[in-house]
Amino acid sequence: MSDCIFCKIIAGEIPSEKVYEDEHVLAFLDIAPVNPGHTLVIPKTHSSDFLDTTESSLIVVVKVLPKIAKAIMWAVGADGFNIGVNNGAAAGQIVPHMHFHVIPRLSGDGYKSWGHRKYGEGEALKIAERIRTSVENSRTIN
Ligand code: 5GP
Ligand code: ZN
Repeated sequence: MSDCIFCKIIAGEIPSEKVYEDEHVLAFLDIAPVNPGHTLVIPKTHSSDFLDTTESSLIVVVKVLPKIAKAIMWAVGADGFNIGVNNGAAAGQIVPHMHFHVIPRLSGDGYKSWGHRKYGEGEALKIAERIRTSVENSRTIN
C-alpha cells in the first residue's frame, strides 16, 4: 500500500533496523522501544489490522515469533517478553499495517501489568454466552 509507513519500510524507502527477513515476513526494531530490543514483526502483504489479515499471513508471522523472541532474549539479556497486537485505535493501534510487538522484559524494569476487574453477579455467564453464540454464528458464516 503506497501510503503505508510499514510497506515503505518493507520496500526499503524508509530506513529501519532489520533483525529478520524472509519471503513473507519482516522484523525490525521499534523506533520508540518499550525496552531496548522491542521488535515489530509484520507480514509483507499489507493488511490494516489483525482481523483484516489472511490466515496464511498470520501463520507465517506467528511461526517465526519464537525464533525472534529467543534471539531478542539472548541479545538484550531479557528475563521474559510480551507478545501483543494492538487492534484498533481504542487498543492503541497507531500504524494500520498489522504487526506483532515482541517486547523484552527485565525483572524490575518498572512496568506494571494490566489492571484487573471483577465480574458482577451473573455477568461472566451472560458475556460467555454471547461470545459462544457469536463463535457459533461465525462458524456457520465461514
Ligand atoms: P501500534 O501502536 O500501531 O501497535 O505500534 C506502532 C509502533 O510502530 C509504535 O510502537 C511505534 O514506535 C512504531 N513506529 C512508528 N513509526 C515507525 C517507524 O517509522 N519506524 C519504526 N522502526 N517504528 C515505527
Ligand atoms: Zn502496509
